[in-house]
Parts: sequence; C-alpha cells; structure tokens
Amino acid sequence: MHDVIIIGAGPAGLSAARWCDELGLDTLLLEQAEQVGGQLHKIYNPIPNYLGLDAENGQQLLDRFNDSVQASEFDQWTGVSIESIDLRAKKILLHSGEQLQSIAIIIATGVRRRELGIEGEKEFAGKGVIESGARDKADLSGQDVCVIGGGDAAAENALSLAEVCPTVTIVHRGRKLRARREFTEQLTTNHCITVFPESVVTRILGSDRVEAVEILRKEGLKPFQLAVRSVLIRIGVEPNSDLFREQLTADEKGYISISAEQETSVPFVFAIGDVSNPTAPTISSAVGAGATAAKVIASRLNARTVSKYGRS
Ligand SMILES: Cc1cc2nc3c(=O)[nH]c(=O)nc-3n(C[C@H](O)[C@H](O)[C@H](O)COP(=O)(O)OP(=O)(O)OC[C@H]3O[C@@H](n4cnc5c(N)ncnc54)[C@H](O)[C@@H]3O)c2cc1C
Repeated sequence: MHDVIIIGAGPAGLSAARWCDELGLDTLLLEQAEQVGGQLHKIYNPIPNYLGLDAENGQQLLDRFNDSVQASEFDQWTGVSIESIDLRAKKILLHSGEQLQSIAIIIATGVRRRELGIEGEKEFAGKGVIESGARDKADLSGQDVCVIGGGDAAAENALSLAEVCPTVTIVHRGRKLRARREFTEQLTTNHCITVFPESVVTRILGSDRVEAVEILRKEGLKPFQLAVRSVLIRIGVEPNSDLFREQLTADEKGYISISAEQETSVPFVFAIGDVSNPTAPTISSAVGAGATAAKVIASRLNARTVSKYGRS
C-alpha cells in the first residue's frame, strides 16, 4: 500500500513525485516508456519560456529535472504496462500480474500526437513521414515538403523548413489557419510556402519512400497529386485518458475534468498536466499542477506535515 501512485513521468508526474516525496508521502511513479520525460524527448528546439532555465532542447531540461529528483526517495518504475485500474478502489493491476494499491492516484499521462489514419502514414514513417521538423531540418535541405495542419506547430515548422526547402506546402482543413498571427503574417509573405486551405491529404504515396501526397481540395472535385519528398503531420494532440475515461468525468475530447485542487470527479484521484489541460498545455503549468496535487493530498492525509527538508 502506497500513499500515492502517480501514472506518467513527464514534467507533471516528475514534479508531483518530487513534491510528494518532499512532503513525506510514500510515492510510486509508474511510466510506460523505458525512460521518464514524456514530451521533453520530442522537443528539439530551445525552450526559452520555462522560468529559470534557458534549455537548448527538451533533453537538456530533462537532465536538469533528473538532477532535481535524484536525491528523492520515491520509487520509480519504467517500462510498466497497466492492465486495468479501479479508480474508486485505488487498485491497479499491471500487465506483469502485480497488484498495486494506494490511498490517492495522480494521473499525469499527458497527450499524444493525433494521427491522420490515411494510407502511407504508417508505412512511410521514417521514410519521408518525419517526426520533427526541428530535428530533421538539415536532412530535409533541398527537398519539397508537405506540412499537414493549420495550428501553431504546423506554421512554425513550415516557416523553419522554408529556410532550407525549395517548396513547403501547407494543407489544412479549415478556411483559415489557426496559428497565431505572428506566424500567419510570415507565411503569407514567404515565397517558398503555398497554403491549401479547406483541403485534405487523402493518401501518402511512394514505393520505397514518400514520393507524393494526394490532395483533395473540395468534396466532389478530383484529388490531385503533389510531388514531395517528405511529409510532416501536425494536426494536434489527444489526451492519454482512454484507460480512465469510463470511470471519471472528461470533456468530449477526453480531457479529464478537474477542480481547482486538480481533483477529478473521483475522490482522491487527481489529474495534472496536459491530460487535464486543453487550453494552456505547457511545462510550467504541468510542473505547477504537480505541486498543487501533492500539497492537497499531503494536507488531506494529514501526513508528516514537516517535510524532510525542513519546510512545513
Ligand atoms: C515539439 C514540442 C515543443 C514544445 N515546446 C514547449 C515549450 O517551448 N514550452 C513549454 O512550456 N511546453 C512545450 N511543449 C509542451 C510540453 O512538452 C508539455 O506541455 C509537457 O510535456 C506536458 O507534461 P505532462 O507531464 O503533462 O505530459 P507528457 O510530457 O506528455 O508526459 C506524459 C507521460 O505519461 C506517460 N504515460 C502515458 N500513458 C501512460 C500509462 N497508461 N501508463 C504509464 N505512463 C503513461 C507517457 O509515456 C509520458 O511519459 C512542447 C511539446 C512539444 C511536443
């Protein structure tokens, strides 16, 4: 029996674990990946907006996070697969057969990139369907590229790739780009970038690697093919809440509903970070939410109120 089990070891889960430990709670942190860090592993650009640390990329910030938790005494299990969970009873069954129980559960499972679900998307992963514009920019030099999506991530990547690619074509569903004005203004004046609004990519085509995308501009019209060597898909994210959805309240997209104390509709089950934050998902808010949940749990359990480090 643990005081707290935290599911997910991104910035939110790591922060919660650090705080729970400091507040004297017996804490177990479960992570499905082999390494902790969550989305930090996917950030290849500088992170100038996490106060106090001007990290060059996600890995550098993660190194600092790991330094911070090194002295903590919480248990940390990686490569863990949860078979089932009973949120009311606070019981977790792992794929390995192991049963876990706690007084409180913190869900910190973050988000995953949305997939298009079209032909060629999976087949050409790593063979022209790229993971990150920032990481792969040098390799894409001289290539014609298609960016799918109309938000900040799509626009920012398109602008960055246009510095090295002869043509960048943005294909997006909406009538207008959703990206912030700072990006859209630059897009309209960049001669390398073409935007196809109200359009969808229906197939990614090629033999050994990506050679073209098939674009449908309007229902009823014939799709046409555009020759490209690489495709970047940035159509948003979805919360990793499938495991819990039937047991608690969530919005229509699956983001877990929480109170100001980060508590879900199930008493003593908390949700922190991107999985419960559709409006402003950031590292800062994830880390802050971790602290809030830990403090609320500690005060409710009336645990050892004086922390190991002297603060109350
Ligand atoms: C390219 C990119 C650039 C970004 N740039 C910035 C930036 O400049 N500034 C900023 O503030 N934010 C930035 N972000 C967003 C930031 O990374 C996220 O807001 C932050 O990582 C959210 O932390 P989290 O802990 O809530 O979730 P995540 O980082 O998503 O971590 C969730 C963790 O939970 C694990 N998990 C999921 N399901 C399970 C399960 N069933 N069992 C066990 N573990 C599970 C996942 O494997 C993952 O490790 C960026 C994100 C990306 C992708």
